[in-house]
Amino acid sequence: MKPLRVFAALAALAILEMGVATMSHASTTPVLVIHGGSGVIKRNLDHARENQVRAALARALQSGYAQLKAGKPALDGITAALTVLEDDPNFNAGRGAVFTHDGRNELDAAIMDGSTLRAGAVAGVERVKNPILLARAVMEKSQHVMLIGQGAEAFAKEAGISLVDPSYFRTEQRWQQLQKALKEDREGKPHSDIETAKHFGTVGAVALDARGHLAAGTSTGGMTDKRWGRVGDSPIIGAGTYANADCAVSGTGWGEFYLRTVAAHAICMRVSLMHVPLERAAAEVINQEIPSMGGNGGAIALDARGNIAMPFNTDGMYRGWIGGDGVAHVAIYDDERGAPTGADESDTAPFQPSP
Ligand code: ASP
Repeated sequence: MKPLRVFAALAALAILEMGVATMSHASTTPVLVIHGGSGVIKRNLDHARENQVRAALARALQSGYAQLKAGKPALDGITAALTVLEDDPNFNAGRGAVFTHDGRNELDAAIMDGSTLRAGAVAGVERVKNPILLARAVMEKSQHVMLIGQGAEAFAKEAGISLVDPSYFRTEQRWQQLQKALKEDREGKPHSDIETAKHFGTVGAVALDARGHLAAGTSTGGMTDKRWGRVGDSPIIGAGTYANADCAVSGTGWGEFYLRTVAAHAICMRVSLMHVPLERAAAEVINQEIPSMGGNGGAIALDARGNIAMPFNTDGMYRGWIGGDGVAHVAIYDDERGAPTGADESDTAPFQPSP
């Protein structure tokens, strides 16, 4: 073959490969994955509550997915889903958040746009009805990434974000959880079953929109009985929340370990730089690295092809997803496959991430 023809053939091949690479990279079918926390979830303990949680997860999925279906960005999908969960008292975020040692609710949240790497976060806010909306406002309306406490609330006022009286967040169940923890503190006992339950109920969402862009968000009250202005991983970009062009992650678990492993970023770097498949990347960090250090918890992860991973090493993780089939799936326990909401659990095939 003449050199010119060889060159033309090679160029054509390169163009073809570029096309294939681009095509196989991003999916244009929207995907939404949410979690409502990991921890001690005793099967058959409280059917009524379990049904409420499943219904809330389904509502959050529908609300978020409606945005994605309408062609809205991934950020809108996760914000819509997370505000539903923050408003629901069954979760440790917004209304229903856990109490600090001195009987207050201090809320943390973060959001990240994978396509621009913009991020916003808030920590220790006590009067913001929906902390995820404030995190988003920090990202979109301020020069900063993270605001805390009273300063964050002053910014909320300026940004037109709803403030409420702190009593809005109180639920009797969370108050009793604190009383139990305080009693055990006084008796010098380690926290009993709430040792893990106390970091349970955080909410998170990751989404892929029709343009192939990813976003992640997390909102939490943190851990029952927390002291001294403790902040966990959820509002720390890279630890509990992270998104880039290839990968989006929201974690839930014992925050100190997610901070030390920079868990969400660690998962996404495995995917982005080492080209590790999402499911393996998430399992390595959540089910190997974190437990090997003495921590526990779970995470939801999504890649730009629409693959989903939901590893956890606790009794259960409240979770839900709408993938390529457009159907809402909700699951709690390890052996659950995520029947479409409204269907019998035994009706469905085991969940496989989409190819
Ligand atoms: N990771 C959260 C924190 O440590 C709690 C949770 O996910 O349940 O604040």
